[in-house]
Amino acid sequence: MNHLTEIIPLLLAWYDKQKRDLPWRQEVTPYRVWISEIMLQQTRVEAVKGYFARFLRALPTVQALAEVPEQQLLKLWEGLGYYNRARNLQRAAQDIMERFGGTLPNSYEQLLTLAGIGSYTAGAIASIAFQIPVPAVDGNVLRVLARLTADRADIADPRTKKVAEQMLLQIMPQQRPGDFNQALMELGATVCVPNGAPSCLCCPVRQLCEGYRQGIMLELPVKSAKKPRKIEQRTVLVLLRDGKLALRRREKKGLLAGLWELPNFEGCCNNAQAVAAVRSLGLEPLRAEPLMAAKHIFTHIEWHMTGWRVTVEDACEVAGLVWVNPTQLQTDYPLPSAFSAFLPGRMT
Ligand code: SF4
Repeated sequence: MNHLTEIIPLLLAWYDKQKRDLPWRQEVTPYRVWISEIMLQQTRVEAVKGYFARFLRALPTVQALAEVPEQQLLKLWEGLGYYNRARNLQRAAQDIMERFGGTLPNSYEQLLTLAGIGSYTAGAIASIAFQIPVPAVDGNVLRVLARLTADRADIADPRTKKVAEQMLLQIMPQQRPGDFNQALMELGATVCVPNGAPSCLCCPVRQLCEGYRQGIMLELPVKSAKKPRKIEQRTVLVLLRDGKLALRRREKKGLLAGLWELPNFEGCCNNAQAVAAVRSLGLEPLRAEPLMAAKHIFTHIEWHMTGWRVTVEDACEVAGLVWVNPTQLQTDYPLPSAFSAFLPGRMT
């Protein structure tokens, strides 16, 4: 594998010319690298740009992140999904305040002790922000390495990642380790792409690529099939009363834990069943209209949703429901994007 060292100067030279101008690259601090890396997990670069700027404006320091009320934090995260990432960020920020005086530790091992930081993120922060020569292996890097070395190991197997980390650790450059890691990721994101054919003719390391030499780039990487997602039918209620919308809090554990939601339940309801469901909540329906069906895909489950907009009588409070006006919904209540299909023009 040591011939892999030959890719280093080629990749760095290519990166210097071709790297994308991304907000988190304009000013590199440990905090900014951390936030961007967490946001970029499971989320496209283009989608993250706006969130990153807004988040940094609202919470510019570790201390601000440690102290922000959870609802405000989740509101800043609204739409990014995987909300545990935001909660872990805050847990880690509190930990950094307590154990490291408010500064991210400049040690790969100590970074690993923080909530939400695994080997990839620790490697990214350590190398990009602190110039520590450790690898940062994500899906992009695994794919590039599999093609470069014509390796048919299953990249869905965690052992493959471990092997890749060990392999890269041996060749990490002492100079510019962060740029080297970013160059590998950038190559995976823009040239040695995941869907469709890689752009080998534009690739700076083509002459060293075993996958290209053997003409098997399209067969790599090998990735075992995931279990198919479970499909769940759900009925979602948009309950309106006096210009306000009903929300409730989800359970503290499980999917979308602790977030606000539109009342919903398993199964696909017709009009009479929707009305009965509203009555069972202790509310009196005045009018029920069907809404467009919607689908939301989580990691392991898909919700196929039927929606009902139900205007209810102004009545006594119902335990577990809060009634919010449009402004409150906009500013105070983080609502997962699973429900957004039911909300346009929602409060009239
Ligand atoms: Fe990927 Fe092609 Fe470059 Fe090999 S030559 S690393 S397959 S883009």
